[in-house]
Amino acid sequence: MRIGVLGAGQLGRMLALAGYPLAKDFVFYDMSGSPSAGLGEVIIDRDGQYLDDFLSRVDRVTYEFEHLPVTIAEKLAEHTTVHPCPRALEVCQNREAEKTLFGRLGIPTPEWQVADSADTLKAAAEALGCPVVAKSITEGYDGKGQAVLKTPEEAETAWASIGHPRVIVEKFVNFRREVSIIAVRAEDGDVAFYPMAENTHHEGILRYSIAPAPGLEPHVQQDAEKYIKSLLNELNYVGVLTLELFETAEGLIANEMAPRVHNSGHWTIEGAMTSQFENHIRAVSGHALGNVQARGLSCMINIIGEHGDIERVLELPYTHVHLYNKSERPGRKLGHVNILADSYEELVWRVRNCVQFLPGSPEFKSTLTTEG
Ligand code: AMP
Repeated sequence: MRIGVLGAGQLGRMLALAGYPLAKDFVFYDMSGSPSAGLGEVIIDRDGQYLDDFLSRVDRVTYEFEHLPVTIAEKLAEHTTVHPCPRALEVCQNREAEKTLFGRLGIPTPEWQVADSADTLKAAAEALGCPVVAKSITEGYDGKGQAVLKTPEEAETAWASIGHPRVIVEKFVNFRREVSIIAVRAEDGDVAFYPMAENTHHEGILRYSIAPAPGLEPHVQQDAEKYIKSLLNELNYVGVLTLELFETAEGLIANEMAPRVHNSGHWTIEGAMTSQFENHIRAVSGHALGNVQARGLSCMINIIGEHGDIERVLELPYTHVHLYNKSERPGRKLGHVNILADSYEELVWRVRNCVQFLPGSPEFKSTLTTEG
């Protein structure tokens, strides 16, 4: 079976690496002009002229990237099976549509309003009560196109810095930590949920994911499963879906979802019985889902901006190094290291030991290091 993947970055690369043992072939469709997957066949098509060519080479289509025109996915869906469906892509591209859907399905979100000028942003900040976070409705990722307003008077500056015609204004959530849940749904409707991960960001970029999230109460995992299941079923979704959430004293609050494999699920490559990548390939190919249980306790460390002393990291007897074959650039995701351990104490020790060779990494912080 030949799988066509929209997007050609490191997520596509890891999908292919997981799909080869199942005898899948991969054709990547790249509209950015700078594909980095480095595997399979790549069709570079900045203007959408070679869709027929792409279609003629694939049996199924999926995504590793959601910021491409929905019309492309819709056109493809007229001729072949596209998993997940283009509607999932459409919802994930628009924070207003996404939060509206969350609300309709009973998934808690921060209180929010929409603003389309500096004045309406100020009014929203006054109505919701500061601090608030303003985010562009479309095209935002990794904290880009966002501003925090401590007072309504900051509306003018925030509006200018975001530079979008329409923003969503959310009440700032005082969270204990950020978490995510990754689930996968098969063509026959079977659903499986990975244990949730605790995620630490630095300068808007994910740095560390620990899974299973330490000290997570079972009812919190159950709530997250209920929320993501309602999204999967509503969208008649096939493949891996990720939901990012804030954990607060009052329970979970949803932030956003991604219609694809996710950075906070990279730990599953060695840390789960079946990785998120293999399960996505299984689902979109019409196979049964694989076991999602954790093999132990995992931490994923992102390698951002510079590779550091990879040779030393490779020498450590407990590291699994994944490099994306990309050149160094500030803020760029170049690879990740997965570390497994039998106890959280051992995990913290191993992570700290590893991070000393990754100078681009911020100090390792998590609830394991800040809470007794
Ligand atoms: P996003 O692009 O929506 O994932 O936001 C990027 C990051 O900004 C999140 O991972 C949070 O750390 C932070 N953030 C976003 N929205 C809120 C909010 N309503 N309250 C507090 N922090 C937020």
